[in-house]
Amino acid sequence: MNGYERGRAWIELDRAALEKNLSCLQSLLPPGCRLMPALKANAYGHGAYLIGRELARQGIDCFCTATAREGAALREQGIWGDILVLGYTHPEELELVESRGLIQTVPDLSYAEMLAERRPHIRLHLAIDTGMHRLGAEPKELAALAKICHKGKLRPEGAYTHLCTGDKAFSCLQAERFSQAVNALKKRGLNLKKTHLLSSGSLLSFPELGGDYARVGIALYGLMSRREETAGRAAALCPVLSLKARVAAVRELAAGEGAGYGLCFRAGRPTQLAVLSIGYADGLPASLSEGRGRVLINGRQAPIVGRICMDQTLVDVTEAGKVCAGDEAVLIGESGGQRLSAYDMAEAAGTITNEIVSRLGERLTRVML
Ligand SMILES: *Cc1c(COP(=O)(O)O)cnc(C)c1O
Repeated sequence: MNGYERGRAWIELDRAALEKNLSCLQSLLPPGCRLMPALKANAYGHGAYLIGRELARQGIDCFCTATAREGAALREQGIWGDILVLGYTHPEELELVESRGLIQTVPDLSYAEMLAERRPHIRLHLAIDTGMHRLGAEPKELAALAKICHKGKLRPEGAYTHLCTGDKAFSCLQAERFSQAVNALKKRGLNLKKTHLLSSGSLLSFPELGGDYARVGIALYGLMSRREETAGRAAALCPVLSLKARVAAVRELAAGEGAGYGLCFRAGRPTQLAVLSIGYADGLPASLSEGRGRVLINGRQAPIVGRICMDQTLVDVTEAGKVCAGDEAVLIGESGGQRLSAYDMAEAAGTITNEIVSRLGERLTRVML
């Protein structure tokens, strides 16, 4: 980075919003529970290093990632403390887990057997399947799991499960199955010091379910997956990320003129068109093409027209006043008192905010303000 991050297309991170979300979530923690922020997928597109470093400064010392490489990259950037890898790690990549002092999830029995054979000394947390049926050993496999651990000299330090609905009754059922599983494993002699089940939605809705950690991702970034979830305690969260792009050129089209690939845009009137230097390769969903997405320029909304290109996007700025090359366009965030949110973009693209932000690409520069 040359110190000028706001060149072509970029992300601005609001440090004050991150701190506010952090203290809001910390105030909800049940007794004895600590935050374990999720820095997977480049901290949901925000920038794992910028976010991790800021959280470390705020005293956070345990994190989770999806992959061993994400954990190793954080170590190389000087992030210390515990890093739990939530996802699958190929046996050939376990060297990374061991040498960087990461904690690996044990997703099932056969993985435990492989670990016993190849890498018995790495730090481990056991995943328990309490109903989501993604990763985790099933309750009926726990006796066998404990046996593999003893025989293979595996020493899991913790166990966790993942709650998969916002439904109170089902979350309580999952929590009950989890606590029975933990008791069964402890009875069989496993010294599980840490157990955890909360993530963003459940910390906000059912903090009383407890545990030693709350693995929070989306809420820390000031978002929920869907707008409908932003009532109640989540109303206090502030979005951390803004997405902006530079206007590369402005041109006038006569009525009837076409523009972009396939000439998919047809000017129905004399039209002022701005070319933004951001495209689908930066994570802007191509499904926002042809009027489905909007941007803000000079505090006014302008529709995305034509087909979004890999690196560029056309917007109709006929109604946006005077627009010049070099102006800023806001795709997520605020301009002149107007706001476009990640919810607006997610709804227009038919997806959730998690997908919108986590796909924001490596080409975007990121700056913490
Ligand atoms: C991603 C993830 C989280 C964080 O979820 P949020 O809803 O973003 O808070 C927690 N636990 C597991 C297992 C995950 O995969």
